[in-house]
Amino acid sequence: MPGKKRIDIIDQQFGTMLVLKEVDPGSNYTRMFLCRCVLCETERVYSMNLLRKGRITSCKSSACRKDRYKKSQESLDSNRVDGIMPSALIRKTRENTATGVKGVNVAYTKKGTKRYRAFISIGGKTHRLGNFDDLDAAILAREKAEAEYHQPILEKAKLQKARKEIE
Ligand SMILES: [Zn+2]
Repeated sequence: MPGKKRIDIIDQQFGTMLVLKEVDPGSNYTRMFLCRCVLCETERVYSMNLLRKGRITSCKSSACRKDRYKKSQESLDSNRVDGIMPSALIRKTRENTATGVKGVNVAYTKKGTKRYRAFISIGGKTHRLGNFDDLDAAILAREKAEAEYHQPILEKAKLQKARKEIE
């Protein structure tokens, strides 16, 4: 067809799909292209329209999705320090309403005496720090525990991050 330039999309990549070649459109009224997923090598045929509209982002195969999920988990894992996500330690959690202090709960003895129970959670484990008559004593116990449990991890995370930036 002279004068009418056919648009060439061979070798172009749409999302994870690389266009390999034009194929026989069969009963379709539009040009069809064979594409291959650059992640998992799944081959699929898409119409020119779908590709050019930016509607194709990946092969959508379950194996590929699983693989991408695994990769994203791996990159998350690389931020871990001793299996713990440092961001979980600094992330603001809802403060305990009874005392207004994170890591300090109110507990009552059998006789009904009010006591303050200090605890710290790390890596899904909760460490009990003891029961105290005095709120300040409970807070102090919690602060000591933060220095003992959280601080080394936050320090390591800082180093890890600095090292990553150098690489
Ligand atoms: Zn794929």
